[in-house]
Amino acid sequence: MGIFSHSRLSTFEQCPLKYKFRYIDKIPPRIFSIESHLGGSVHSSLEWLYIQVKNGKIPSVEELIEHYSKEWNKKKNPDLAIADNSLTEKDYFNKGVKFLIDYYLKNKPFNDNTIEVEKKVTIALDEEGKYKIQGFIDRLSYNKETDEYEIHDYKTSNSLPYREKIDNDRQLALYAIAVKNLYGRDKNVCLVWHYLAYNRKICSRRTDEQLEQLKKDTIELIKRIKSTTDFPAKKSVLCKWCEYRDICQDFNSDI
Ligand code: SF4
Repeated sequence: MGIFSHSRLSTFEQCPLKYKFRYIDKIPPRIFSIESHLGGSVHSSLEWLYIQVKNGKIPSVEELIEHYSKEWNKKKNPDLAIADNSLTEKDYFNKGVKFLIDYYLKNKPFNDNTIEVEKKVTIALDEEGKYKIQGFIDRLSYNKETDEYEIHDYKTSNSLPYREKIDNDRQLALYAIAVKNLYGRDKNVCLVWHYLAYNRKICSRRTDEQLEQLKKDTIELIKRIKSTTDFPAKKSVLCKWCEYRDICQDFNSDI
């Protein structure tokens, strides 16, 4: 059934039918949302920024925006879907410009000791390695003062999560297991989200006991997915951004 990822698990939780379209029927995304395009272009630009910094050069903010502009145009699908029809493509592009300028001014000179960008990690959830998760850490840094690894994740969404959601987030906690496996189980790991629309950094930590529990819960979820034979549609506000909504009968039954 292939290796799992956080996004694969969340797709199943969000809507089993969407999971079936994407991971079982392997239907390529049919609709490309502008929100994903914005997120992808901003992520690529921050990745580029930190690669330059790692190579000893701090690009100017103008160079960062120039890079972003190229990324935006290079990866742009001609049929980008805009769910919020009060906004134009230009508005979304400009949002990214603002996110990056704010982030740049707040974090320059980017000296938090970045050691990896877009780092691929594989997390074995059990001793035998039967259940594994794969993912990419946006950026990993090592804080020499606190002797702590920091897992950074960039968010381009328009809303700030409640503290409870942050403290129960699965994705970065899974990556914390991977970082501990790589750099030492006794190492402390800090989870850091950058909510770019608010220019805010939010941190959270997990105990070893919480990480052990997370492994068990994730194995249970994988087992449940593997044994599922029925994939009902689960409608929610997120349908607005679903890349399969044109072939989803449940979505289309309402319009
Ligand atoms: S449109 Fe909604 S109900 Fe239909 S597949 Fe997508 S997420 Fe599921």
